[in-house]
Amino acid sequence: MNHDDLRTWSKRAADWAQDYHTHLRDRPVRATCAPGELIRALPEAPPETAEPMAAIWDDFTRLIPPAMTHWQHPRFFAYFPANAAPVSMLAEQLANAMAAQGMLWQTSPAATELEQVTVDWLRQAVGLPQGFVGTIHDSATTATLSAVLTMRERALDWAGNAQGLAGQPVLRLYASAQTHSSVDKAVRIAGIGQDNLVKVPVDGTLSMKPGALAGAIAADRAAGRLPAGVILCAGGTSVGAFDRIGDCIAVARAAGLPVHVDAAWAGSAMICPEFRALWAGVEGADSVVINPHKWLGAQFDCAVQFLADPAPQIRTLGLRPAYLQTAGQEEVVNFNEWTVPLGRRFRALKLWFLLRAEGLEGLRARIRAHVAWAGQACADLRALPGVEIVTEPRLSLFTFALEAGDAATAALLERINADGRIYLTPTTHQGRQVIRVQVGQFDCTEADVAMIATVVRDCLAA
Ligand code: PLP
Repeated sequence: MNHDDLRTWSKRAADWAQDYHTHLRDRPVRATCAPGELIRALPEAPPETAEPMAAIWDDFTRLIPPAMTHWQHPRFFAYFPANAAPVSMLAEQLANAMAAQGMLWQTSPAATELEQVTVDWLRQAVGLPQGFVGTIHDSATTATLSAVLTMRERALDWAGNAQGLAGQPVLRLYASAQTHSSVDKAVRIAGIGQDNLVKVPVDGTLSMKPGALAGAIAADRAAGRLPAGVILCAGGTSVGAFDRIGDCIAVARAAGLPVHVDAAWAGSAMICPEFRALWAGVEGADSVVINPHKWLGAQFDCAVQFLADPAPQIRTLGLRPAYLQTAGQEEVVNFNEWTVPLGRRFRALKLWFLLRAEGLEGLRARIRAHVAWAGQACADLRALPGVEIVTEPRLSLFTFALEAGDAATAALLERINADGRIYLTPTTHQGRQVIRVQVGQFDCTEADVAMIATVVRDCLAA
């Protein structure tokens, strides 16, 4: 394919995309294929000679969409959304066309400077104070890993980077069991070890108990271990738990520990001032991650990490080998020094397009509607006989179960997802099997959300 062919096929792809999105409601949300079905439909060996694009295209349309779970389906209520506003898709197409690699300012000045500007726009939008700067990672997992590596090195005065972890004191990090598994992954990768991630107990509101945090830090110090940092949860994945951010940060500060706040999902809602009480005190954090690729609408991937002071992270992750040196490097930002990978996609473009084309008012209206519709869906489910709301809505996430018990709840979930009109996913809460409902898909309407109770009622009657 040359660039003339690319133009022809890009137009065809645009037409296909329009048709795909127009008819998404006609498709089952969750893929219906069996494991291995696609593998069996494909040749075992790669082609030796070039194939015509028409053949590739036909195979794509025949084989791929039916084997997809449709994340942009307006009735996708599973996990958290991976919203792709149409304008952010357009920006991705343009970024793809330029196919630049923005590891250094010099390798793509616009990518670097637009990242600085859009991250600051988002900072203002969510109400973080001036002084926070930030960068865009692929995922919240990478942002949290970067924060954890920085905590490790701060605690060791950067001896871990230099000498490795053998012979160093035992490091300890603190989080509640409501935090996302990306924190567990980060402590493993960072060589801190799962056993040294202390799961601090939560109270009845599912917030980490600040007193228990203080006690755990003191006990570790008394035992000769080295506390390195605290990770707080602002909108947990399972049931939307929020730590009392300000109170927990006060404990961490008193103990001289840095704090990372995981607001990967709920951070987008902070563009609405009325929700900011949920993370009150966040301005005291050292690091905060928000995924605009979840609820806000910047096509996956786009995870923004805000930093009160980037210097410790740059000292932890930044390297300047001779082949990456550029003239005037002290006057510019080279974002590869802030992140784990060297190479960087031009992710700021889609955030810029999104913020401009939707405007903060447009984005706020959507999030407010999702929260209101989730509240209505919760009320509709509560009214169904045999259905119990297990956790009340936190923003737009709640859980329910059947009074008949775990097996009945799990069987109901299978029936719901086999039905195809909506897609929900499971979790456990306090040892109980529950079904999660989150409302946040970019194109969903009130009628789509009302369908949740309709489908549950139909599946209970079946
Ligand atoms: N933190 C929270 C609260 C999440 O819900 C998720 C994913 O759903 C993550 C972190 C990990 O996000 P990512 O897929 O961007 O690594």
